[in-house]
Amino acid sequence: MTIACPYRIGSGHDTHRLEPGRPLILGGIRIDHPRGLAGHSDADVVLHALTDAMLGAAGLGDIGEAYPDDDPQWANADSTRFVLETRARLSRLGWSLVNVDVTIFAQEPKLGPVKARIRKSLAGLLELDEAQVNIKAKTGERVGHIGRAEAIACQVVVLLTRPVAATSDGLSAVAAAELGDRPVAQAP
Ligand code: MG
Repeated sequence: MTIACPYRIGSGHDTHRLEPGRPLILGGIRIDHPRGLAGHSDADVVLHALTDAMLGAAGLGDIGEAYPDDDPQWANADSTRFVLETRARLSRLGWSLVNVDVTIFAQEPKLGPVKARIRKSLAGLLELDEAQVNIKAKTGERVGHIGRAEAIACQVVVLLTRPVAATSDGLSAVAAAELGDRPVAQAP
C-alpha cells in the first residue's frame, strides 16, 4: 500500500580508509592533508553517504547498486557525478530536498576550518540554500578506527518532499512513478 505522505526521510553512512599518497576529498572539496581516502572512486565519503541517503529516502536502493565498485567506469570517478545524477533522478520522480544534515567523523584533519566550504559545495551540488544544509564534525575521541585516524566516516540524513496528487488516481500515479522511475503526475 502506498501511503499518501508528501515527505520521505533517508539516511546514508559510509567509511573509507585513510592512506598516504591519496588526495583527501570531502564533500567535493580538496583538503590539504598528507593522507587521503582509499577507494575505487575518489572515495569522497561525504558524497557517498549523501547519495545513499537520497536513494534511501526515495526507496531506490543503494549506491552500490547504482554505481558498482567493481565497474571500471567508476575507477577514480569524481563522486560529484553520483550526487548530480541521483538529484536528477529524484527530480524526475517529483522529489525536492527539504534539508540535509551531515555528520563527518574524523580524528584528523581538524574539519572546523573547512566545514563552511563543504556546506557551500553541497548546497551548490544540490541547488539548495546553504540554510538547508548543515555540516557537523566529530572526532573519534581517539577510540576505534576513527579515533586512531585510520579512517573517516560520514552519516547523512535527508528529507525529501513532493506534492501528493489530489486526483482520485493520485496514489497510483505516485506508485507508478516509483516503479518506473517516471515523473509524478501533477495535481490539476
Ligand atoms: Mg564509499
